[in-house]
Amino acid sequence: PRTSVLTGAASGIGKATKDLLEQRGERVIGVDIHDAEVVVDLSTAAGRAALVQEAGRISGGSIDAIYAVAGLAVPAPATVAVNFFGTVATLEGLRSLLAGSEAPRAVVVSSMAALLPSDGELVDLLTEGDEAAAMARAEVLASDPATTGRLIYASTKLALSRWVRREAAAAAWAGSDIPLNAAAPGIIATPMTADLIATAEGREQLLHVVPMPLNGIAEPIVVARLLAWLNSEENTHLCGQVIYVDGGSDAVLRGDSV
Ligand code: NAD
Repeated sequence: PRTSVLTGAASGIGKATKDLLEQRGERVIGVDIHDAEVVVDLSTAAGRAALVQEAGRISGGSIDAIYAVAGLAVPAPATVAVNFFGTVATLEGLRSLLAGSEAPRAVVVSSMAALLPSDGELVDLLTEGDEAAAMARAEVLASDPATTGRLIYASTKLALSRWVRREAAAAAWAGSDIPLNAAAPGIIATPMTADLIATAEGREQLLHVVPMPLNGIAEPIVVARLLAWLNSEENTHLCGQVIYVDGGSDAVLRGDSV
């Protein structure tokens, strides 16, 4: 059976994915800030280092797949630390554990929010990998949480999707026979969105910004099935793809871009 390391395992999409893989007989080393086999804070350098050490120890030095699912959606700098730097550290830190696998795979959860308005300066700083400057920029945006603070999440997901597009074809991934791809969900019913979709008005407002003509708001298992396939042995040739699992948001908002 395949062994994976999966961040964000305690809740929502990560939990649904862990459950699905375990039902299929796979071994999943769950990582989260609470209620997980490996409890670490991915917003800190110490937490990221502890992840690599613990995943290596528990797995015995070899895994088959990485699922970087953990994320935050608060209008604050912590969202930058988890969504971008925590995710990149997960992938780069655990990559060497894939070396012994016959079918190594890695997948990231980005978001269709990458298509929504973002802050160009923050995206540039993320792309440069400058964590201190990106955190400082997010602090400025967060000082107006009602307006610009909302740009933080979209900015982290845009930079993350671009990171996957850029890195996937490089020596470390494609050149090492490791497919690296991203899923970009639309609105999924998890604790992250629970408050926003609790009322009919809330759902209507959100679906106005994030149109989902095909089947509307989705359950986390919908994303879990895609992640499981992207990291399965069946996926031999997807490389650097950002797969929108969004009920049509991408097709509506960006139809001409293929
Ligand atoms: P969730 O809040 O249910 O789960 C996120 C998990 O990440 C939680 O268990 C949380 O504890 C963990 N996490 C947060 N900060 C952490 C930290 N510092 N260290 C370690 N773990 C941490 O939300 P979800 O909806 O399941 O989100 C999963 C992923 O899907 C996120 O990357 C999110 O941005 C993305 N996403 C969600 C939606 C949606 O509509 N729910 C849409 C698009 C993308």
